[in-house]
Amino acid sequence: LLINLDTAIELLSSGEVVALPTETVYGLAGMISHESALMKIFKTKHRPFFDPLIVHVKNLEQAQSLAQWDPVSELLAQKFWPGPLTIVLRKKEGAVSDLITHGGDTVAIRCPNHPVFLQALRGLASPLAAPSANLFGQTSPTQAVHVEDEFNGQVATVDGGTCQMGIESTVVEYDQARRTLFVLRPGLLDANTLKHSLTSISPPVNVELRQQENAPGFLKNHYQPKIPLILVKGNSMPVNQQEILDQLTDFAHMPVREWILPDDPQMVARQLYADLRTFNQNRQAIYLVIPPHWPKEDLWSGIMDRLNKACHAWLDINDGEWTLHRK
Ligand code: AMP
Ligand code: MG
Repeated sequence: LLINLDTAIELLSSGEVVALPTETVYGLAGMISHESALMKIFKTKHRPFFDPLIVHVKNLEQAQSLAQWDPVSELLAQKFWPGPLTIVLRKKEGAVSDLITHGGDTVAIRCPNHPVFLQALRGLASPLAAPSANLFGQTSPTQAVHVEDEFNGQVATVDGGTCQMGIESTVVEYDQARRTLFVLRPGLLDANTLKHSLTSISPPVNVELRQQENAPGFLKNHYQPKIPLILVKGNSMPVNQQEILDQLTDFAHMPVREWILPDDPQMVARQLYADLRTFNQNRQAIYLVIPPHWPKEDLWSGIMDRLNKACHAWLDINDGEWTLHRK
């Protein structure tokens, strides 16, 4: 069900949830001031309550009303908002529902860079909670038609075109005591760029990856297509490639096709989830050969993170020897 922005604002004001485009992926939005809207988000997505929501704000000022800010987090917001950066902060007493934070004392906040989403925020009295508009654990939508498919047309959606970024925001949390910015979820805003943006601060701030394996969004299986996706990693190709193809076919119980991706990480991110959806629709099992430079280059880390969670198995090739790992 496609709706226009004015209708979306009306529905949101009355406590309904609607899908809105952001620059990362489509979000299932509800006003944080409406407890019932928050409940609807979890129910529509079949999302467990232990998975906290990201609060979307129209600007830094609105974010300041929700949480306690430190100078490093503030500098990041000034440099990268609106944009694909989510900042985890200590929440202000009573400012955010426990449904959003799973009762914790921190809240994740971001200002999205999409004209439609920003206009909705400007037309509303409170920020919007907005996890990706897909069933829990499934592939995130990057086009309005993906949201339609995911919920059989049952979720009112504003069409804002294809999401330009294509993967979810980078999530960071600054630890003042350790003077370290932890990257909790990698994205297209990479660690090097973040580090660079903080060079004016002294003493210097470390930037470190700290993925929380036990938290959702950090789960081992996420963004997962229903058809088998197998990653091929390693430092060399084996002599007998047919043997490998046979093994992959065996694992998938159907023919596997190679998934060829462009060299430009931004293009890959933009296309990633749409491709997974197409493979699903075509019931096509696929394997993807990971170029050796990928995991070592910053911009690829967000993409590798999603692929590692989306895949069902991976094949390790070392000096011509190979092993298949099932997840
Ligand atoms: P999404 O499902 O893309 O909306 O992203 C939500 C994700 O943001 C969660 O799964 C967590 O990984 C992260 N997140 C949200 N709130 C917090 C928080 N308070 N602390 C740490 N991570 C959070
Ligand atoms: Mg999601």
